[in-house]
Order: sequence, then C-alpha cells, then structure tokens
Amino acid sequence: MTTKSTVEITRRLLVAGTALGAAAALLPRIAFAAASTKKDTTHMQDPTTKYPKPPFKRQEQPWPGLASKMDPVPDHGEESYKGSGRLEGRKALITGGDSGMGRAAAIAYAREGADVAINYLPAEEEDARQVVALIEKAGRKAVAIPGDLRDAAFCQQLVDQAVRELGGLDILVNNAARQQQRASLEDISFEDFDATMKTNIYATFLLTKAALKHLKPGSAIIQTTSEQAYDPSENLVDYAMTKAAVMNFTKSMAKQLGPKGIRVNGVAPGPIWTPLQVSGGATMEKLEKFGGDTPMGRPGQPAELGSIYVQLAAADASYATGQVYGAAGGGGQP
Ligand code: NAD
Ligand code: MG
Repeated sequence: MTTKSTVEITRRLLVAGTALGAAAALLPRIAFAAASTKKDTTHMQDPTTKYPKPPFKRQEQPWPGLASKMDPVPDHGEESYKGSGRLEGRKALITGGDSGMGRAAAIAYAREGADVAINYLPAEEEDARQVVALIEKAGRKAVAIPGDLRDAAFCQQLVDQAVRELGGLDILVNNAARQQQRASLEDISFEDFDATMKTNIYATFLLTKAALKHLKPGSAIIQTTSEQAYDPSENLVDYAMTKAAVMNFTKSMAKQLGPKGIRVNGVAPGPIWTPLQVSGGATMEKLEKFGGDTPMGRPGQPAELGSIYVQLAAADASYATGQVYGAAGGGGQP
C-alpha cells in the first residue's frame, strides 16, 4: 500500500538527490523495524527476534519475587493486548494474577470485557496494584484479594469474596504455583514438599470445589500446568509431580463437568520469563541460558500466552474441554 505520507517521503528523498540510493533502500527496512516492535500485534513479526534472548543477567529475588524488579522486565501485554469483546460481561477469578501468566490473563480478560478478581500473596501488593490499575483502565471492575492459598480456609473465603464482589463467577483460573528447585531429593524438606502440594494441588482442588456451586453452563475452568507434567527436570521433582496432577485433574474434571456444560482446560507453558524463575525456581546457571535451548532460542514472555487463556474461556471454544494447550516455543509437550 502506498500512503500519502510514503509518497511525500519518497518525493522528498528524490529531491535530496545524492542520498537517493541509500535512503530509498532504507524505506522497507524502516517499515520492517516498525512492524517488529513488541507493541505491534497487527503486523507479521519474526517470533525469534521479538523478545530478549539469553544470555540473561544472573538475578535473584526473595520468594515470591516481583515482576517489576526483573531485568529485563517481563511483557504481560500491558501495551499490546487488544480486546474485541470476546469475554463481555464475564466474571473471572485468577490466582497469581499479580504477575506472569496470571497478569497476562488478567489484562487480556479485562480488555475482552470481563470483570476480574486477582489473588496474590501480600508481599506482591506492588505488582498487584499495577494489575488493578490496568483492569480499571480497561473500564472493568478489579477486585484484589491478597492471601495465602496454602491455607484451606482462605481458599473458601477467596471464592466467597470474589463471587460477592464480582456478583457471580464464570471463569476460574487456577494459576498460582510454588516452584523451588532442589538438586536432590534429600534437599526437599517435608515443609518444602508440603508447601508445594498445598499451593499447587490442594488449592486447585479447594478453589474448584468452592467455585462449582456458582458456575453455570458456559463457565470455564483453566489450570496452568507445565511441560514439566510430561518431561520433568531432575531438580523440580515435587513441582513436576504437582503439574502432572493438575494436568490429570483437568482431564477428569472435563469428563465430570462436560454434561453440566462447564469446560475444563489447561495451559502448559515452557520456559517463560516470570518472577517464579528468579525467586528460587531456577538455578543461576539455568537462568543465564533461560529458554536458549528451545527452537525459538529464547524464553517466552507472559504476553505471548494471554490470548491462550482468552481462547480457552471464550464461548466460541465451546467444544474444547479436557485439552491442554502447550506454549513452549517448540519444545516440550503436549
Ligand atoms: P509468577 O511468579 O508470576 O506467578 C506465580 C504466582 O503464584 C505468584 O505471583 C503468586 O501470587 C502465586 N503464589 C505462589 N504461592 C502462593 C501462595 N501460597 N498463596 C497465594 N499465591 C501464591 O510465575 P508464573 O511463571 O507466571 O507462574 C504461573 C503459573 O505458570 C504457575 O502455575 C507455574 O507453575 C506455571 N508455569 C510457569 C512456567 C515458567 O517458566 N515461568 C513454566 C510452566 C508453567
Ligand atoms: Mg507474583
């Protein structure tokens, strides 16, 4: 397409005479560079160069970590996600909604027209405030409910409060998780194991159970599982067990809830640049090379998964249930 301004630029370049050859050759490159920025979601982009690649700086944060303190700061779609009314009027609860995949889903859901409640740990208030502001900027209601999912009573309260403040519930995203790498089984304490099971499995069970009585036909439940469910790393034994359990829960619950018109699906990310990885989830050696061994040659950014959470919740995906949507840059399973 030749726009008026392109014609004008070209005319001026022609007038410039001596610079003609070089400048004219630059034109398509300028257009390509503009199309390659991560904020642009409408033009074709090379996914291998779209986002930062390893080597990454070594960096460690106390658990649970903050997205805002990562280097580079992750992209959750803050400037790129464009909605088109796919979740108009829906009411969603997202655990771990302050950062990472949860934040990407929260931004995308709000821009698609949903009111969103997020749960997070009190230490993540700073990240959560940013998400609340983004949901409100999208013109939707934001409900912030801090609290610890290892506490069974809190899981019940979380659903009750979300339902009360949203005026119902029709999307539940079980996304929060604990991942602390340990070189050997001897290094996994009982407390470690217990905390991983409680956060990743017990909370998924308790929240789903509490949510069920509110979910009408057409509702959707989404679990964030992992490529670790299928191909576990030697230093993520307890975590990988829980991701397999959550994947399995997705499939059994899809069978149980299918006749009720409630769909249950999962997302299985590969290496994604989030606080979980820099707050004990990965070794410094792994972090430096993070995502470099995928066919994309880089880790994913949460923004690249936001539309997957939308797709699995949207009404037009009405025959998709019991499925796990992989997002691992070409490696991993499913
Ligand atoms: P993240 O750190 O941004 O999100 C994890 C969230 O879990 C935290 O923000 C925190 O709010 C929440 N959380 C942890 N313990 C909690 C507790 N006891 N109570 C309440 N909330 C608690 O990291 P992320 O990578 O976006 O993680 C989101 C999901 O993605 C997790 O299920 C994780 O297993 C999964 N995942 C991540 C990767 C990756 O490479 N980052 C890969 C595969 C799967
Ligand atoms: Mg967080």
